[in-house]
Amino acid sequence: MLKVEHIGIAVKSLAVSVPLFEKLLDAECYKTEEVATEGVATAFFRQGDTKIELLEALSAASPIAKFLEKKGEGVHHLAFEVKDIRAEMARLEKEGFELLSAEPKPGADNKLVCFLHPKSTNGVLVELTQERP
Ligand code: ZN
Repeated sequence: MLKVEHIGIAVKSLAVSVPLFEKLLDAECYKTEEVATEGVATAFFRQGDTKIELLEALSAASPIAKFLEKKGEGVHHLAFEVKDIRAEMARLEKEGFELLSAEPKPGADNKLVCFLHPKSTNGVLVELTQERP
């Protein structure tokens, strides 16, 4: 894996949390984007070489709505940038990690993404992310 690409944080409301994180990070939100397939609205901040991604649920069926219900607001996932997402998925599966999708999926920020089940990673939801070719 190349680096921590971003840290995902689940929030109840982007309208509340975007100004909060702008103050906290002393940086402006440079992009908001909805990912309809995942049922989320996202907002991004740059911090040096990495990013913070805020995630708000678009519906009660969204994985973010379920996370908020169970755990409340807070750190939701760590995203690692990889060079070749399919090769990395194959490597991790061989190592015994559980992938949440058999194929990479389109994610926010022009990426291909795949998540690992947190039960195979000490409770941390891990996202693999690769810039879309
Ligand atoms: Zn993410």
